[in-house]
Amino acid sequence: MLQYAVLGSGSSGNSYVFSDGTVSFLIDQGYSVVELKRRLERFCIGLETVQAVFVTHLHPDHAKGVGILCRRQPAGAYISSRSMLEQPDQFAKLGIPLQQVFPVEPFEVVEIGPFSLFCFATSHDSAGSVGWFITYEDQNLMVLTDTGLTTVEHKQLAKDANILFLEANYDKRMLETGPYPLYLKQRIDGSHGHLSNEQALLFLKDSGFAGNHIYFIHLSDVNNDPALLEKAARRTIQTPFTVCHKNQWYGPQPEAL
Ligand SMILES: [Zn+2]
Ligand SMILES: [Zn+2]
Repeated sequence: MLQYAVLGSGSSGNSYVFSDGTVSFLIDQGYSVVELKRRLERFCIGLETVQAVFVTHLHPDHAKGVGILCRRQPAGAYISSRSMLEQPDQFAKLGIPLQQVFPVEPFEVVEIGPFSLFCFATSHDSAGSVGWFITYEDQNLMVLTDTGLTTVEHKQLAKDANILFLEANYDKRMLETGPYPLYLKQRIDGSHGHLSNEQALLFLKDSGFAGNHIYFIHLSDVNNDPALLEKAARRTIQTPFTVCHKNQWYGPQPEAL
């Protein structure tokens, strides 16, 4: 049976787990091994079942724990080849044993147990950044985070997704009136920054997403308010959704796993 959970999302660390009970993998790993283990246990998933980690991009909150995990156990690290080529220093800093690194190209299909995955390009200030599309039996799951804009390709993929993990990083007015310096506001709001609540909700409408559940992820602590997003989402979408708060873990209830 398919299990999945948001282990954490936001600037302090990001990781998502997918499992069939025997084979598990992560999208991103921004935690220490101790913290990752603790978060996996919350969903009754053993660390030793993690066979791979698929990386969206090399910013530390997404990638800093990949090397520590791979040095501890023989998990494969799947990273876009462009990230590795264009950010050799950041890549080297992760300290992943090279025999465990698998460079991937967009739309190259990777199989892990009963799962198949491919990545697609996103628009972020980290070269080679990607999102991931996962298939398990007849279920499609999509992780779209850390992107300043959405593309036609993103919309086509979302239309086929059953479960969507979608960035809603900031509320435009909170960002504009908030404490960040202007250059940072422009970076976040720019085409290589992050998705706003408004952009995320518009994306859902434009893509024709008709799946079962949306997880709003990667909310900013400073420039967003979960209650605001919740209210706006209630007004615009019919699909059940979860607004993922900082340092909270989300997924199906452990009893049901
Ligand atoms: Zn990032
Ligand atoms: Zn991020």
